[in-house]
Amino acid sequence: MALSGVKCLVSNCNYWEQGNQCDASAIEVNVDGGGREAIKSDQTNCRTFKPAK
Ligand code: SF4
Repeated sequence: MALSGVKCLVSNCNYWEQGNQCDASAIEVNVDGGGREAIKSDQTNCRTFKPAK
C-alpha cells in the first residue's frame, strides 16, 4: 500500500509505483552531506531508496 501524501519521481527505486507513489512502509529523509538543517529542497534526499532489480 502506497504511503499517503508522498509523491516520488525516482522511477528506478525498488519501492516506486505507477502514479509516482512510494510503496515503502516508511521513508527516511536526510540532509545531503550530513547535519540537521537544509537550506534548499535539493539538499535533501531519501535514504530509503533502493535500486530496482
Ligand atoms: S523509497 Fe524514497 S526514492 Fe524510493 S519510491 Fe519511496 S520516496 Fe521514492
